[in-house]
Formats: sequence, C-alpha cells, structure tokens
Amino acid sequence: MQKRTLGKTGWEISVIGFGAIKLPLISHKESEILLNKALDGGINFVDTADCYSDSEEKIGRALKERRKEFYLSTKIDERDGLGVRRKLERCLRRLRTDWIDLVLFHDVRGSEYDRIFDSGGLETLEKARKEGKILKIGISIHNSLPMMRKAIESGAFSALMVAYSAFDEDRLAADLLPMAHNRGVGLIAMKPLAGGRLAERPLSHKNRRFIQGESLAQVSLRYVLSNLNITCAIPGMMKPYELNENLKVGRQPRKLTIEEIKALMECVGEAGKGFCRNCGYCLPCPEGIPIPDIFRFESYYDRYNLREWAREQYRSLVVNADACSGCEQCLDLCPYGVSIREKLKTAHRTLV
Ligand code: SF4
Ligand code: SF4
Repeated sequence: MQKRTLGKTGWEISVIGFGAIKLPLISHKESEILLNKALDGGINFVDTADCYSDSEEKIGRALKERRKEFYLSTKIDERDGLGVRRKLERCLRRLRTDWIDLVLFHDVRGSEYDRIFDSGGLETLEKARKEGKILKIGISIHNSLPMMRKAIESGAFSALMVAYSAFDEDRLAADLLPMAHNRGVGLIAMKPLAGGRLAERPLSHKNRRFIQGESLAQVSLRYVLSNLNITCAIPGMMKPYELNENLKVGRQPRKLTIEEIKALMECVGEAGKGFCRNCGYCLPCPEGIPIPDIFRFESYYDRYNLREWAREQYRSLVVNADACSGCEQCLDLCPYGVSIREKLKTAHRTLV
C-alpha cells in the first residue's frame, strides 16, 4: 500500500484510509471481518466520529487487539471544554483504547470556530494531549474556505479534513490545499466519492470504454490522490467489494490517462446535475437559511442512515428551511443548478 506523510506529524499514512461512517449499516461480525481485512490489506488509518451511531463501538470491538497497527482518528461535535472532555472519554471507552492518534473538531460551522478557542474546547484537547490520551488535534470543515484558511494559519491543528472529490476541483485545489501542505498541515480527503455518488453511478457505455477495467469509484479515488497535497482519502466502506476496489487503488498507484480524466469529468457532469456540492456560493440567504448545511444533513439522513443525528443537527439550527420566502436570490448564485427552493421543502419534511 502506498503511503504518504501526514503534514508535520511525520506519520506515514496509507493513501487509502478506512472511512467508518457506513459501519452502522452492517453487523458487528461483518464490521469485524471488513476492518481486519482492511488492516491485512495495508490500510493503517481508520477514521470515525462520535456521532456515527455505533461505528466507534464496532471498531473498538474488532480491532482492540491490533491497536498498535493503525492510526485511529475520531471526531467530536462539541466545542466547549466540558463537552469535549465528556465526549472524548466516551470515544476512548467505545473505541476500547488508551489513546487516540488524531481527534478532530467535527464539521465546524460559522461561529463555532471561535468557540473552539474561546470556550475551552481546544484547551481541553491540548490537556488530553499532554496526558497522552490523544496524540494530535485536527479540524474538519465542509464548506467554508475562509474558515479553512483561518484554521491553516492558526497553527493549532496538525490535520485538516476537507470534503474533496472530483466535484470539488475548482474551489480547493488551486489555493487552499497547497497552502495547507506547505505549512505542514496534513490533508485528509473526506467524501472522496462525493458521499457515495461517484460510487453508485453506472458508467455510460461510452465511459466504460475509456475507464478500462476500473470502476468509477476507483478512477475517482485515483483522481483525488493525484493531488499530491492530499495525504489520504477516506472513502466510506461497508461491502467487501468496496474494500477490495479501494485497496487496489492504494496498492497499484498509477496516473490517470487524459481519456480517463475526460470520461470521469463527463460522469461528474451527469451525476452533478442538481446535486448540492456544499460550495456555499448561494449564501448569504436573506432569511439566514444555512442552505448547504441543510442539504448535508439531509444526505446524512438518506445515505448513511444517521437519522437521529441529522434531525438533531437540523433542529438545533437557528433558522430552518421553512423560513424560505421564495425570493429566488439563491437560484442565480448556485453554479450547479440545484432547485434550492423545492429541495429545501423536501429537506424540511424529512428532518423536522
Ligand atoms: S429562495 Fe429561500 S433559500 Fe433562497 S435566498 Fe431566498 S429565502 Fe433564501
Ligand atoms: S445549493 Fe448550490 S450554491 Fe448552494 S451550496 Fe449547494 S451547490 Fe453550492
């Protein structure tokens, strides 16, 4: 398995990491088999989150005897000192480990960024680091480029987890990824298959001819990893064939051909019609609706079955989708043709 160094940590990480968001969709036994096969296959980075239902428990049960063989990463939703401490203790318990290699502030949005610094969250993780309970601190940010920049410049984080796939080329690749890399902040690509969208699309006949022998998911992963600023991509996995495909990408690195890139972009174009990429171009909405966040929660509800968590997140928003006045200002700003008004109505019905 090919490895790359995660920023200044010096850790040699497999380019394919195990994204554990889908473990709640399979049994303990299936998880155990899959996770052990992943480690046997050369994966040495496993990423989960406190909010991924029983994902942490499954990892803990399956890999407790192999703890020294891999880097373990989890994410916490809390921002204040007390909440972070409480969640961290739970993560350690559920993961059945004495230490976690990387703990990230999960899905940081809006004013939450400042709260990490002002209300004790970062301080608490720093303390946990000194106690040896965690080794490094990171942050995951889905869609705010200014926040990503601030996080990189702050020097507070060893790793930055960003949503990055063939869909996101334009907004991240040119600027922020090299900046993070140059400053020694390790980059982990979450949602490298756009939340599974690039794994599910059947290839058109024409594209199948170009992408010889490899699935769209594999070519998409190769595309993400062709950006050398990225240390590791963490596709969500639950089926043995997904693991096998992903392992093959990491074990046999190769450059994509021009034809493959063209074919991939064609598929991205097809799959991307009307699909929210969380770019945030539609903001600000005059009613204060956090449009991309709402679509992301909906996709967590639909695609990962994280129903309670998605609903909780939605209900805790200051402004919900039903505040939409129908002004249509956002429609002109969305470069991807998302039917924002209609989709907000559906999301509200699902999540309220
Ligand atoms: S149509 Fe609704 S969501 Fe879009 S900008 Fe207007 S109020 Fe906001
Ligand atoms: S609705 Fe459109 S503009 Fe808004 S975040 Fe999604 S893709 Fe971007």
